[in-house]
Amino acid sequence: MQITHNETAHGFCDFDIVNAGSIYRVTVSDTIKNGDMFNVFYANGSKGAGFWKGKAGCPTDQIMALRQSIENCEVFKQESIDSENFFLALVDHHQSCSCTIPTPASSKQDFTLIGVDLESADFQRDNGRYLVYKTPCKKCNEDTIFAHAFCPSSSTGEEHLKSLATRHHREAINWDSITTSTR
Ligand SMILES: [Zn+2]
Repeated sequence: MQITHNETAHGFCDFDIVNAGSIYRVTVSDTIKNGDMFNVFYANGSKGAGFWKGKAGCPTDQIMALRQSIENCEVFKQESIDSENFFLALVDHHQSCSCTIPTPASSKQDFTLIGVDLESADFQRDNGRYLVYKTPCKKCNEDTIFAHAFCPSSSTGEEHLKSLATRHHREAINWDSITTSTR
């Protein structure tokens, strides 16, 4: 995350933020105190709030505290979730093959879709999201789990994600029969 101080006007310090997902700007009172709110601006035009985790006073002298306060914003935390977590949760539940190098089935019919990562669909991700498939391992015939990325990290919105997932899966998805969130 790069933080650049733009200006201080009308009692607010204005910062440009780069590499913090959809957060691109924050404005913080120059007399802020620990626990006070500050303004957070998102790429989609909406605005939210963060909570100050620094000392009282001007935030331009406390860039580390500003960074921590931004990292503690709900949007930042949700956007930092990795689809890897979703995949690993399904591996925990469904994988019974314990081969060092599982050998997936070779035909598409042997792959069963068991999950699509729609978790926190309103938020961007650090990386893309996964479709997760189950297939019998050719060596042991037990189930092994594979992930396939289906959208770029900037994709958001449940309906949009569902349509991208369907396009990658190449057939209709029965959403009620699969896992879409591990929470
Ligand atoms: Zn196996």
